[in-house]
Amino acid sequence: MKILVVGSGAREDAICQALQKNSQNVVFCAPGNDGMKLSGIKTISIEENDFERMANFAQTNSIDYTVVGPEEPLVNGIVDFFKRQNLKIFGPNQQAAQVEGSKTFTKRLMADAGIPTAQYQEFTKLEDALNYLKIVSDFPIVIKADGLAAGKGVFIAPDLVAAAEVVTDLLAEHKFNTRRVVIEEYLEGEEFSLMVFVDHKRFYPMPLAQDYKKILDGDLGPNTGGMGAVCPVANISKNIEQEAIENVLKPFVTELYDQGIKYTGILYAGLILTKKGIKVIEFNARFGDPETEVVLPRLQSDLSEIIEQILCHKKIKKIDWQIGGLNLGVFAVSKGYPIKPVFGSLGDRDTFKKCSLMINYASVRREQQQLYSHGGRLYLIQAQAETVEDAQTKVYQELEKMDQTNIFYRRDIGKNSI
Ligand code: AMP
Repeated sequence: MKILVVGSGAREDAICQALQKNSQNVVFCAPGNDGMKLSGIKTISIEENDFERMANFAQTNSIDYTVVGPEEPLVNGIVDFFKRQNLKIFGPNQQAAQVEGSKTFTKRLMADAGIPTAQYQEFTKLEDALNYLKIVSDFPIVIKADGLAAGKGVFIAPDLVAAAEVVTDLLAEHKFNTRRVVIEEYLEGEEFSLMVFVDHKRFYPMPLAQDYKKILDGDLGPNTGGMGAVCPVANISKNIEQEAIENVLKPFVTELYDQGIKYTGILYAGLILTKKGIKVIEFNARFGDPETEVVLPRLQSDLSEIIEQILCHKKIKKIDWQIGGLNLGVFAVSKGYPIKPVFGSLGDRDTFKKCSLMINYASVRREQQQLYSHGGRLYLIQAQAETVEDAQTKVYQELEKMDQTNIFYRRDIGKNSI
């Protein structure tokens, strides 16, 4: 099969590598990145929101189907655009992608389906939001910009002064183009991610994963796009996993269907195990990043076949996942990330080629023999092992061989599973 993957990050690299496991497949990634080419992925320089050129490429190259990695093209309607031209594409349409594009849309769906989530209020007027904050008794409190904010639209305000500042930035200054905010209860507990393949009413769960979001060891410092991840998650029991499937994913997928929203693609649930049970932090309309990088290498069934069957709405009998051991991935990011990343050389590409572990590349470009950074998250190195400690040893040994001048990474990815 000929498959086009839309996106340019380590997640898309992981999707492409999983699709390439079937040697009959020819996989293209648009726009991709220079690092991916080291794994033999064909990159096409078309920007992810250039639907016209993307569809043209699919048409002229007889692409069997397209897989969309990031949220932005989904929320902007790439699936509807392709379908109007009778092109097969895997991902939710624009209406269904609101699951990620609008926090209030998703909160209302969860309320309709009786799914536990943080209590919340939504506001469009600054004055109303400020008045509400004055009567809040519990801090910290969480403030979220409604709409896409590239993972940067969530603020945990420790007190009233900080909270008032955030809502003012969002509703008066319209930071992230926000017109609406959600103010919600702060939840405490162990976070984990559950992704499922969705075919309208049917869904197929993947193994649990856990992402490490904070920039510094010990979960300190500001949030990032994700500094590393582990799959499966040793500190979340099988019972809890089953409960998440039965009491969160199942009613949510059913509610979408019952409300006439035909969802096809990946649905990601960001969950938290609180003292009062599992609650939903967010839903996303696509594969998570960096969870996907550590989940997909554990897939033993053929990803291209799974997607094809879902696109034909055929029931899948069984999806096989590796059972023993775990996958652990650590992101090398630019020094200064996430506040002010500094870009520079990452070293000779031969060093990367010689790495004995799987690498997924993100904001990396190549000039002659050198790789350079041009964004926050650069590349993720992962290992498979029987224990977290063994996986850490393998990954950190390889990371230490890399040029350290312009990179930074956490040293404790996987700590919660020890
Ligand atoms: P989101 O973009 O909604 O995934 O939020 C990013 C991160 O902010 C989450 O992974 C959590 O660590 C944190 N977060 C979001 N909502 C809450 C909440 N209600 N309580 C505590 N932490 C939260």
